Amino acid sequence: MKKLSLAVIIAFITSCLLVSCGGSSSQDASNSEKSSVSKSGSDTSEDTDDEYSEGEDDDDDDDDWDSDGEDDSYSNSCCKIDSNSELFEQPIENESDQEIYDLLQQYAGDGYDNTWNIGSARKLQGKTYVLELWLTEQGTLWNKQEMGRIQYEIDRALEWLKSVAKRYGKTLSFELGSFHGDGQGVVMKSIPHSYEDYEKHPDLILEALQVIGYTGVEQCYNQLKKMGDGFDNVLCLVLLNHEGRSYANSFSRGHVGYYETQFLEGVVIFKSYGQEGLSTANVFAHEILHTFGAWDMYGDAQSGKSQEAEQFANQYYPTEIMGRGADAPFDQIQISPLTAWLTGLSDEYDEWYWYFMSNYEQQ
Ligand SMILES: [Zn+2]
Repeated sequence: MKKLSLAVIIAFITSCLLVSCGGSSSQDASNSEKSSVSKSGSDTSEDTDDEYSEGEDDDDDDDDWDSDGEDDSYSNSCCKIDSNSELFEQPIENESDQEIYDLLQQYAGDGYDNTWNIGSARKLQGKTYVLELWLTEQGTLWNKQEMGRIQYEIDRALEWLKSVAKRYGKTLSFELGSFHGDGQGVVMKSIPHSYEDYEKHPDLILEALQVIGYTGVEQCYNQLKKMGDGFDNVLCLVLLNHEGRSYANSFSRGHVGYYETQFLEGVVIFKSYGQEGLSTANVFAHEILHTFGAWDMYGDAQSGKSQEAEQFANQYYPTEIMGRGADAPFDQIQISPLTAWLTGLSDEYDEWYWYFMSNYEQQ
């Protein structure tokens, strides 16, 4: 579970510069008859009351984790990709937040983590359209029973995210559209068979969108964003019927010049990982939070975070979904103030956020 490093993207993305970003009309996901994989419980775009129920512990007894619940009204003023410059404006409500974030990012190294409030998934609030893409290759079709079980985990993750937002006084809703071919997967020429294999497929989301009828990520984003009463966020959920380590494609300010392929943020989830069985709600929740700007809070080479930072997280936030808490039972996972701040749920900045900078030790 990690974010794909910017270096990897840049290394394999040169050809993407040639991709046209035209706006010709195409198939609209909202009209697709293919949107029928069990949408139970997540088609809640009209549910402004955002009731939180079933299953999860709402953790009211754990004040250390909660914000003050202040309810900032939220409006997303940036809607369309009309020019490059607009892409990199970060609509903000609190300029001091931006300054602090910019300062943090000066020490972030390669801009890998500079995903705050940009891309197609910005703040974890408002109406969010989730486009599911169940991908496969000829000869390795999806098993419908497994699809159903994974859809159940997706729905659990989305309900959990709604409950998290609600705890911070924010309204979050999801609407799902699903492309799954004839129920056995959208057949692609080739898809990654492992995390490492992704290097051969840096434009996987774009390629999948083209197979289902879109011309590019810009056209897809603009179409989905204005459906109905409009959406604040759009994100792709790519599902692969192979075993591997899942990851998120977060748009970063380091992606200047690559918006044609990378602006539409998404998560790429393998059917299973090692001996752990089918991917769980924990995996979906973790990776989706990356697209809204959350950082990893565990230390290893891939996360770029130090062991000291991980020890801090384990001590104070042992069930943090972006840290080792990703392995905790789903009804126990929570987010720390850092993740709340990064995903726009909270304005509370704290000095300890610096522990999670990639090269904090060099300060
Ligand atoms: Zn991660």
